[in-house]
Amino acid sequence: MRSCDVLIIGAGPAGSSCAWGLRSSGLDVVVLDKASFPRDKICGGWITPFVLQALEIDAVEYARGRTLQPISAFRISSIGQEQKTISYGETVSYGIRRCEFDEYLMRRCGAEVRENVAIKNIERSDDGWIINGEFRARMLIGAGGHFCPVARFINGRITEVPVIAQELEFPMNEAEAASCQVSGERPELFFCRDLQGYGWCFRKGNFLNIGLGRLDQHKLSEHVSAFVGFLRDSGKIGFSLPRRFAGHAYLLHGYSPRKLISDGVLLIGDSAGLAYEQSGEGIRPAVESGLIAARVLQMTRGDYSAERLAQYPALLQQRFGDSSRAERAAKRLPRGVRNFVARLLLRNGHFCRTMVVENWFLRMNDPPLVAPFVQEPEPARLAI
Ligand SMILES: Cc1cc2nc3c(=O)[nH]c(=O)nc-3n(C[C@H](O)[C@H](O)[C@H](O)COP(=O)(O)OP(=O)(O)OC[C@H]3O[C@@H](n4cnc5c(N)ncnc54)[C@H](O)[C@@H]3O)c2cc1C
Repeated sequence: MRSCDVLIIGAGPAGSSCAWGLRSSGLDVVVLDKASFPRDKICGGWITPFVLQALEIDAVEYARGRTLQPISAFRISSIGQEQKTISYGETVSYGIRRCEFDEYLMRRCGAEVRENVAIKNIERSDDGWIINGEFRARMLIGAGGHFCPVARFINGRITEVPVIAQELEFPMNEAEAASCQVSGERPELFFCRDLQGYGWCFRKGNFLNIGLGRLDQHKLSEHVSAFVGFLRDSGKIGFSLPRRFAGHAYLLHGYSPRKLISDGVLLIGDSAGLAYEQSGEGIRPAVESGLIAARVLQMTRGDYSAERLAQYPALLQQRFGDSSRAERAAKRLPRGVRNFVARLLLRNGHFCRTMVVENWFLRMNDPPLVAPFVQEPEPARLAI
């Protein structure tokens, strides 16, 4: 039996960031993942600079031998409408490949990582947890993504409304790269006409990433096929796609009823359902929740009771907003009116720049999460 202080289930951006946040804590941390790295993850692979900043990643060093596509503009429209180009003249975002990015985060996290370990069994013990009958820990972190077994263990079966999305990333050959009308510095976003989601066409060097995600749960494949047809008809891609799209689900913050803590356990990243509501960006919330969780664990000084861990959901609320906000806001206007107004607004260059790109996608007004991002309370205030 391998005993440790903190056992993290999942070595995606959330789990690796949490382990990295604990690297100087003196705690014995083990990370388990069912995959062997490098592994792929269904994702667009678009990140904001805040992600690199929070993890103290040097962009130049990262780019050595890996894809780091600088982005300095966006093209925005609803599908079939005139596109608005929003340019910045400097790098405002990046494209990464998840097979490279996740392995990089995992290898630098500072903890012992065990790959190819799928979680089959979770048991409570007197002072913590026993996993698969092989690992014992006082504190368990659920970082296994949307279908995280730890989230299932503490929440049971619950009704949720996730985003469902399909994606395809592939290397283009020379002729395909030359004919592809999408430029790496300028990803293209296409909102569905009913505004239940959006599609993207995102080039990273010679890799092309195409995808579409929607909040409603019906006929996703038909929407994806229609989107690919549109990309062909509009001349964006003039070649056949090499394979089928793959699908995945995840929860937007505000749409998740999941309980995030219990005695000796907490959830981070997609396991907690934290992706940004308007853009679906989930990597930044995964990284930030992992770092916040790491800080909370250090502040509890070994007392992992639910009472002491309660600061974690409170800090997430401070950082990401009220978790019931999204559903309330969505109910304010009838859907037909909202969609009509939004489609009109998407034809307005000023709206596309300030609201869609800067507010929804780049979240330029959200300050970076830079350590020490959580103030340690006075010892007296820590006592419950
Ligand atoms: C189609 C699509 C496109 C997206 N595009 C973007 C984008 O461009 N930018 C962005 O910011 N976000 C995007 N997202 C969201 C983003 O991918 C997620 O929010 C992010 O990956 C969450 O990170 P995580 O570490 O919480 O989970 P994950 O990245 O899912 O990592 C979970 C890890 O847990 C492991 N695991 C799972 N189950 C077990 C188990 N039983 N035992 C052991 N290990 C287990 C998995 O192998 C995996 O390594 C997209 C999502 C989808 C579906």
